[in-house]
Amino acid sequence: MIKNLAERIEKIALELTNVLSVVDTAGEVDASQKVYDIFSKMDYYKEHPNHLRFIDVPNDTLGRKSVLAIIKGKKGNSNKTVLMIGHTDTVGVSDYGILKEYANKPYELTEKLHEIRSTLPEEVRRDLESGEYLFGRGLFDMKTGDAIIMALMEEISEDIDNFEGNLIFGAVCDEEGNSSGMLSLIPELVKLQEEEGLDYLALLDTDYMTSEFEGDENKYVYVGTVGKLMPSFYVVGKETHVGEAFKGIDPNQISSSILNRINLNADFCDVAEGEVALPPISLKQRDLKPEYSVQIAKTSTLFFNYSTHISTPDEVLEKMKKAALEAFQSTIDSLDEQYKRFCSLADREYTRLPWQARTMSYDELYEAVKGEMGDELDEKIDTITKEMLKDESLDLRDFALKMVEEVHSLWSDREPVVIVYFTPPYYPHIYIEGNTPKEKALLDAVADAVNTTETDYKLVYKKFFPYISDLSYGAAPKDPKIIAALKDNMPGYGSKYELPIEDMQKLDLPVLDIGAFGKDAHKFTERIEKKYSFQVAPKLVYKTIMNLLK
Ligand SMILES: [Zn+2]
Repeated sequence: MIKNLAERIEKIALELTNVLSVVDTAGEVDASQKVYDIFSKMDYYKEHPNHLRFIDVPNDTLGRKSVLAIIKGKKGNSNKTVLMIGHTDTVGVSDYGILKEYANKPYELTEKLHEIRSTLPEEVRRDLESGEYLFGRGLFDMKTGDAIIMALMEEISEDIDNFEGNLIFGAVCDEEGNSSGMLSLIPELVKLQEEEGLDYLALLDTDYMTSEFEGDENKYVYVGTVGKLMPSFYVVGKETHVGEAFKGIDPNQISSSILNRINLNADFCDVAEGEVALPPISLKQRDLKPEYSVQIAKTSTLFFNYSTHISTPDEVLEKMKKAALEAFQSTIDSLDEQYKRFCSLADREYTRLPWQARTMSYDELYEAVKGEMGDELDEKIDTITKEMLKDESLDLRDFALKMVEEVHSLWSDREPVVIVYFTPPYYPHIYIEGNTPKEKALLDAVADAVNTTETDYKLVYKKFFPYISDLSYGAAPKDPKIIAALKDNMPGYGSKYELPIEDMQKLDLPVLDIGAFGKDAHKFTERIEKKYSFQVAPKLVYKTIMNLLK
């Protein structure tokens, strides 16, 4: 590798950071253009302009696009190919306050931070004063990662006669939003593979890497990735006037019991090879009563972020149904207990409250209503879907909820029930066990890269990149039963929410992440540690690629 690779990486990282590219703004297009321009100036792309192109995000109001850059080695005639991705968008800059105008100018920002250093948290101040860190929005998440790939491709392309194998890099937009960049890239990658007969070996991301706990000195390389589902609950209670409190059942009370049963409960942690996913955490809980009145709410909803390492949608659905049923039952039991006490205080005759705990999946609800209405239900839902799609202000999450409400409203059964469903999006986890030759080759390639890189840093490779990212789209479960459990229980799937699941299944790639090291992603103190990021991470990326293509 050339001596000044580190300088080249820093230069590209700064150029990319200077282009402010906050997700969901026109700046994203500027960043893609910048990536394209940097590649265009390389000799290789002057000779092979058709190996560099934009991939449009379909029907995007901002006209966003990703960049696809290909390098084909001239040595041998290898079809072996390593895929790489990096996102070029960032989160917003309002967190910088008065320093906002410097957010995308790392050296000036770092200077400015010196001026206000007494106001900074101690660790930030220490890093700032060490001179080993550089600050800036997107520099860490993840333009330095993009720069690592781009500089390495430049380096490799300069000696293309001696390079055996192929590299494909997708610089994608909208990763911090709805992943529209990656989702539109996936079908292109499948097309390329089929047209050119390429053998895809792995999908490498260079998104950021940070300490996992206070005082953690390890520098990580991750093989595989965490996944995410959002199990959701539509709770139907029984309305009553507050003057007849025990005649109803409050959906808020059932929902709170579900929250207590599931939220941050380690029973629901996915564990694989000793690596523990975070427990579910609630993202929303509210009742669906629009007005104030002295009638209790009729329905309520809540949903969770559920991290996965091994659990598939069908399994998560079953676990959530069971948990909701237990929570519902405990609500009934405690209500009954209170009613008994109330009756004794008021000297009234006690009879057990009539409630029955029950839960069903969205799929089961749909079947029950279909049993009553027949095909008319499909037609009705079709019309409602078309109507709802017209309303662009309706968010994915609310779309799914509204769908559940609509289907439930068509059911003759008005008794209390909890409907369990999935709110989009879905990010599959990818667990690299080493069972296939491809997985084994990747594990070996990474192990060798880590073991042969001499450095003062403590390098550790682990399973499961711990942050939700576009890496999840490199594969999808193949069992039709699992996919059915997802599709049939995620209202809006196939209409409002689309996932190229067949293409993800075709790619079926083992994935990994080797990122720049830094701290405080998504905070105004976002920063990279220069030495590791510009010197060590690129070596690991380079070695892993070369090991794979060997
Ligand atoms: Zn990122």
